[in-house]
Amino acid sequence: MASGLLPEGFDRVLVTGGAGFIGSAVVRRLLSNSHVQVFNLDKIGYASDLTSIGEHPRHQLLSVDLADPLATDQAVRHADPDLVLHLAAESHVDRSIDGPSAFIESNVTGTFNLLQGVRSHWESLPSERRGRFRFHHISTDEVFGSLGPEGRFSETTAYDPRSPYSASKAASDHLVSAWHHTYQLPVVLTNCSNNYGCWQFPEKLIPVVILKAVAGEPIPLYGDGANVRDWLYVEDHVDALLLAATRGRLGESYCVGGAGDHGSQSERTNREVVETICMLMDQFRPQGAPHARLITRVTDRPGHDRRYAIDASKITRELGWTPLHSFEQGLEVTVRWYLDNLDWCEQVRQKAGYLGDRIGTKAAGSPE
Ligand code: NAD
Repeated sequence: MASGLLPEGFDRVLVTGGAGFIGSAVVRRLLSNSHVQVFNLDKIGYASDLTSIGEHPRHQLLSVDLADPLATDQAVRHADPDLVLHLAAESHVDRSIDGPSAFIESNVTGTFNLLQGVRSHWESLPSERRGRFRFHHISTDEVFGSLGPEGRFSETTAYDPRSPYSASKAASDHLVSAWHHTYQLPVVLTNCSNNYGCWQFPEKLIPVVILKAVAGEPIPLYGDGANVRDWLYVEDHVDALLLAATRGRLGESYCVGGAGDHGSQSERTNREVVETICMLMDQFRPQGAPHARLITRVTDRPGHDRRYAIDASKITRELGWTPLHSFEQGLEVTVRWYLDNLDWCEQVRQKAGYLGDRIGTKAAGSPE
């Protein structure tokens, strides 16, 4: 190992979406635990923020929209990578309901443009670097659709995406597999469950609940609150990504989820997540207790998938990955972090023009 994190020969890493929640956690890890040069390709959209990365001599931002094929091609040539970690995507299901076209542009066309640029870069490499090169596509468990009360998603589960977001991610997964089978591009895919942790743009469930509780405003609970997600702390996801990217078998996909050694303990209903956050808030901010009085049922998300759960035994067996944080540990760190960083939340919400209102309620038939 050259750096303790990546094997010998991975000197230049291109991370797409490195100004987002998971991508910035990957970039921070690469900067703190390795000696690689990191090229961060990001269009700097509403959910982007570079505060957590700051200035670093081994980090370079390439402010590029993957929807632009020429700029994408130039960025790939400039980065001249040994490894590509592709995280850039529009990522919020509710936004995909209100405005699906941005999801097709970024997630489908953007992935296509990146694959084309990366393929021509890979084909031009000298044989030693070409033999080492890898492209890792980061995807979601949402491509598999919705589970009943039993069973888990695995690498052999048939695709059945049901939201514009998951359909666009499914399409991008298929493009990546096709570039492997048709052009032999050396790819690895991962499909991960719901992530949570520090620095997540405050429009997703956990930061939304924390900020509503701080403000003493109604905490929205979609439908009956019984939808189940398999929660994974973002730093555990980063461990899995770097292992799969550098040691995963080429052409293979790996499911990543919170189960690991903690068994099904990472599966929670939305109601359980919200109530646990309220309990932590009672502990950390007793003046607002009981915060659970703020929980308010709202109309469900259209087409809301009922349950996601991951069987992560393949990545555990083949690559030795297992999550290190239980849901309770990760959630406590996360709630504390948001309470200590309310200024950051305010600043990114202002910058994005998003003040915490409900999105994703467009009924069938309403235009974008
Ligand atoms: P995020 O929305 O926080 O960040 C995505 C980043 O991608 C943003 O900085 C955005 O500007 C950038 N981006 C979007 N479209 C782009 C384009 N056309 N060109 C260049 N940059 C673009 O998302 P996240 O939660 O960090 O998710 C990262 C990846 O992980 C996504 O591919 C997502 O599908 C996947 N994923 C997320 C989760 C989760 O729970 N958050 C779970 C599994 C998989």
